[in-house]
Amino acid sequence: MLHLRHTPYLPRCRRSRLTPPILLQMRIETLAVHAGHSVDPTTGAVTAPIHLSSTFEREPSGGYAAGHMYARISNPNRAALETALAALEGGAAALAYSSGSAASLAVFQALAPGDHVLAPHDAYYGTIRQLREMFGPWGLAVDVVDMSDLAAVERALRPTTRVVWVESPSNPLVRVVDIRALAGLAHSVGARCVVDNTWATPVLQRPLALGADLAMHSTTKYLGGHSDLGGGALVAAVDDEFTERLRSMQKLAGAVPSPFDCWLLMRGIRTLPLRMRAHCEGAMRVATWLSTQPAVEAVHYPGLASHDGHEIAARQMSDFGGMLSVQVGRDAEQALAFTHRLKLITRATSLGGTESLIEHRASIEGPTTVAPQNLLRVSIGLEHPDDLIEDMAQAL
Ligand SMILES: *Cc1c(COP(=O)(O)O)cnc(C)c1O
Repeated sequence: MLHLRHTPYLPRCRRSRLTPPILLQMRIETLAVHAGHSVDPTTGAVTAPIHLSSTFEREPSGGYAAGHMYARISNPNRAALETALAALEGGAAALAYSSGSAASLAVFQALAPGDHVLAPHDAYYGTIRQLREMFGPWGLAVDVVDMSDLAAVERALRPTTRVVWVESPSNPLVRVVDIRALAGLAHSVGARCVVDNTWATPVLQRPLALGADLAMHSTTKYLGGHSDLGGGALVAAVDDEFTERLRSMQKLAGAVPSPFDCWLLMRGIRTLPLRMRAHCEGAMRVATWLSTQPAVEAVHYPGLASHDGHEIAARQMSDFGGMLSVQVGRDAEQALAFTHRLKLITRATSLGGTESLIEHRASIEGPTTVAPQNLLRVSIGLEHPDDLIEDMAQAL
C-alpha cells in the first residue's frame, strides 16, 4: 500500500485538511481535476511525472517502501489512474486495462464454465463476439435479449446467471434501458449487474449509484477524449471477493495500460466534465436540426422527446450525451455517399474525441449487425455545432 503522505487520493495533502470521505463528496468537476493528483513529494512538481521504470527497489527488510514492486503488478501512474477512476464512478476500487475489450474480457474470465451471462441484443459488437467466439467454447452459457423489455429479461434469467451485462446508451442505436430495474432483476437471482458506461461517462450517469455492481469503460473514448490512447477500466461498488479475483487476474494476465497511457488518461480526465457539457450541447443542436431535414429518415438521440428512451434517460442521466445516429437516404449506398460529401466530419470508427467522427456501422459489423443499412453513427466533437450543421447541410 502507498504511504499515506504519498497517496494521490489526497490532493496536496501535506498542506490541506482534505480527507478521502470529503473528496468523495466533491462534485465531479473537482474530482476530475484532483482525484489521483498530488504534488510530487520529491521534486515539488505540480503535474505528475511519468514513471517508466518496470521495476522498483526492494528494502533490506524485503518490503517495498512505496508499495510498488514490478510495473505489471502496479506502478505509480496506474495507481493514480485507478484512484481517479474509482472516485469518478463513486466506487470502492478500480482496475485499469489496456483496452475496453480487455476490461470486458476480464469480467467473463472471472466466471466459471457453466455460468450464464445475459447480454443486450444490441451490446457493443466486440462484447457479443467475445461471449460467442471466446467464452461459448470455453463453457459460458450466453443469451442475448432486448433489455428495454424487462419481462423478457426476467424470463431469460436462470439460477446460474452470474452477470447481467447492460449497455446504456447502446451502440449503435443509442437505445436507453433502465439500469436500476435491471440491477434489481440481476440481484433477484444473485447475479452481478455490469454496466458498460463508455457512452455516458460518469459525468452523465453513475451506474453504481443506480444499483449496478461494476461499471466498465473503454477509456479509449470520452475519458481519454483526444483519440490518442487505448484503455479500459472496471470500477467496483464494493471491494469484495469478486473484485479481489479481478484484481489478481489483472496482475497475472498483464493486460494493463502503459505508464504513458495512464498519464495521458489522467490528463484527459481533468477536462472530462467540461468536454461532456460541450459534446451534449453540440449533439442536441445537431440532432434537433437533423430531425427537421426531409432527406433524413430517423434521428436516434435520447435528448429528443420523440426518442423511445427519452424519459428513462431524463431520469437516470444528467444530460443526453454526445452520440447520435441518423438514418439517411434509402440504403447503404446513399448513406455512404452522404459521408463522402462531408468536408469537416471525418469518416472513422471510434468516438469521444475532440473531432467529430461518422461511421457506417453495418459495413463495420458485417452480416450479424443490428444496425439498419442506412444508419450512420456520429460522435459529435467539440467543433462549433453550426459548423457541423453547415457541413451536413451541404452534404445532404
Ligand atoms: C469502444 C467500445 C468498447 C471496446 O473498447 P476498446 O477500447 O476499443 O477495446 C466497448 N464498449 C463500448 C460501448 C465501446 O464504445
